[in-house]
This record gives sequence, C-alpha cells and structure tokens, in this order.
Amino acid sequence: MIRRTIPAAVLAALCAIVGPAHAAGRAELQSACFAPATLAADPAETAPVKLGRPMALRVPQTTLPSAIPATLPRGAIRRVDLPKGRKLIALTLDLCEQWSEVAGYDGAIVDYLRANKVKATFFAGGKWMTTHGERTRQLLTDDLFEIGTHGWAHRNVRGLKGPDLLREITAPTGAYRQQRQALAATQCAAALPAAVSRIPTEPALYRFPFGACNPEALDAAHAAGLSAIQWDVSTGDPAPSQSAQAIAHTMIANVRPGSIIIAHANGRGFHTAAALPLAIPALRAKGYQFVTVSELLAAGRPVITDTCYDSRPGDTDRYDTLFAPRAVLPAAPPAPPATTPALRTSTPR
Ligand SMILES: [Zn+2]
Repeated sequence: MIRRTIPAAVLAALCAIVGPAHAAGRAELQSACFAPATLAADPAETAPVKLGRPMALRVPQTTLPSAIPATLPRGAIRRVDLPKGRKLIALTLDLCEQWSEVAGYDGAIVDYLRANKVKATFFAGGKWMTTHGERTRQLLTDDLFEIGTHGWAHRNVRGLKGPDLLREITAPTGAYRQQRQALAATQCAAALPAAVSRIPTEPALYRFPFGACNPEALDAAHAAGLSAIQWDVSTGDPAPSQSAQAIAHTMIANVRPGSIIIAHANGRGFHTAAALPLAIPALRAKGYQFVTVSELLAAGRPVITDTCYDSRPGDTDRYDTLFAPRAVLPAAPPAPPATTPALRTSTPR
C-alpha cells in the first residue's frame, strides 16, 4: 500500500477551499436523528384517510412581521426569467390536508428524489405538518429540500376575509416553527447546533391551495412576508385517470428554463411516483438542472401575475363553488371524535 503524506499547509489550504466536511449542510443532522428505516417510504401512509368530521387540532397563532423587505414580490409568481443559457427548473410537491382528513405521505417520491439527488420544494399545509410531524422534521433536515407553506387546512382563500384570511395564510408558519423547534430540542440535534442553524427559522414561500387567490389574499401573503409561488407547468396528477406516461410527457413537453412544476406528494398525486423516474432523467438529458424555488428565484427575475390560475386565468374559479370555504375558522378546537385517529407523529429521535 502506498502511503502519501499531505503537508499540513496543503491540508489547511484545502480546508479553506471546501470547508470542514461536517459544515456541508443538514445531512449529518438527518443521519444523527433518523435511522434509514424511518426515512424510507411506508406504503401504509401513502393514502389519505377521510375522517368524516373536523380534527381536534389547535390552530397556531402567529403575528405579522413588523417590516417587509422592499424586494418582496407582490403577486403570484408563475415562473422565473433566467439569463440566456441557464436551464434551471423547480419541481414542487404539494402536501395538502383538509380539516376532515389525514392526508397521505407518498414516500416513494421522496425516496426517488433522495436516491437521485433531485432538489425539490414541498408546499406543506399547516395541518399536514402537524399530523405528519416526523416526516416534516425529516424533510427539514434534508439538504435537497426546501419547505414552503400551503394554507392551514387547504381552504379556498377567495371565500375568506380579514382575520380568517390572515390566519389561514399565517397559521402554517406557526406549524413550521413548532416542528423546527421540536427537532432542535431533541438530544441528537442539540449536539449539532451548526447544522440546526442551516434550517431556515421561517418559511419564505407560500402556495395558494386550488391555484385560487384574489387581490386581498395576495396582499395578505405579502403582509405575512411570504412570496406566493404558483406554477407554469401543471402535471395534472390529482386526476386518478392520469397515467405516469402522460404526467411525464406533460412535464417533458412543457418545461422551459425557469419553469415551476406542480405535483403532489400527499397521496393525491396519482402515478406521480412512477412518472418522476420517467421525466426527471429525460429532463436532465436535455440539460435541465433541478433547483429549489429559492435558488430559482435567486438566479433570475420572477414572472408575476395579479391573479392565480392553473393553466389559464379563470380556470380555477370553479373551485369557488366546489370548495366553498367555511367563513370562520374554529376559534377553539372542535370536539374530538369518539375515536381519535392516531396522528402520524412521534417523538423525534
Ligand atoms: Zn394543495
């Protein structure tokens, strides 16, 4: 065996360039706090469970930030214009959950993204984060992923006003903070404060459920310090009839530099887990690089609209009647059902 001695001065120079290995990111936090088996997909938690009545969960209280940066965009961001030649795109996966259900967690999608080092942004509902505490904390510790928020209980904000509207938009920030704090309080995380500090203390991105908003809701998101991130490539994966091949074709045919792609990882992205292994290698072969939404925003200029929609303005207006929101959030948690369903949370390791 040939042994080589590297002079100390060279080692010091190398460390100055790449930094110490453990300063790379959040990965060591993930490996310290979650065994591989707990990170892996569990088919039993993929499908949403309908409960038939609202869950007894307290809605976190949050306050608006005292100052909003002048650079914070106002309006709905659909894509990003990039400098010529750059082929960055953002895959986004919504984790939607309504009051009377426990939505799913499609771990096969996350397993694929991890195995193939694909960056992605999750838009998690506040209630979803609360019922999927451990999964949320796992996503928070992953260098590949970024978490934005997606309403408290996936309401159509076009039917909400004033305090109800603000609470629907800001409560998930409270849920995010709760999970971040729970993680930081664990013994495994306490030994790694530098890695914990790399988890953003606040979410910066927001997605309007149903692709529906109005000027008042856009103003509320802005007042909350959140960038509203919608999309320009809709996979159509909430339709059970949509095949994996069709989803992949939609992605490959419609993506262009700066695109934001919407899909779902809450068990209502039908065939999404099978579609991504078809679409992602094909897009990479065309020279596209997957980045988080924040990285995409930092690389160019956002394309902003003053309304929200799926593929064309007005196409989500039908949700005003299909998913008319209750006017008022429960001030106190609703009474628990006779048999309280087990939450998909557990004490973090
Ligand atoms: Zn959603």
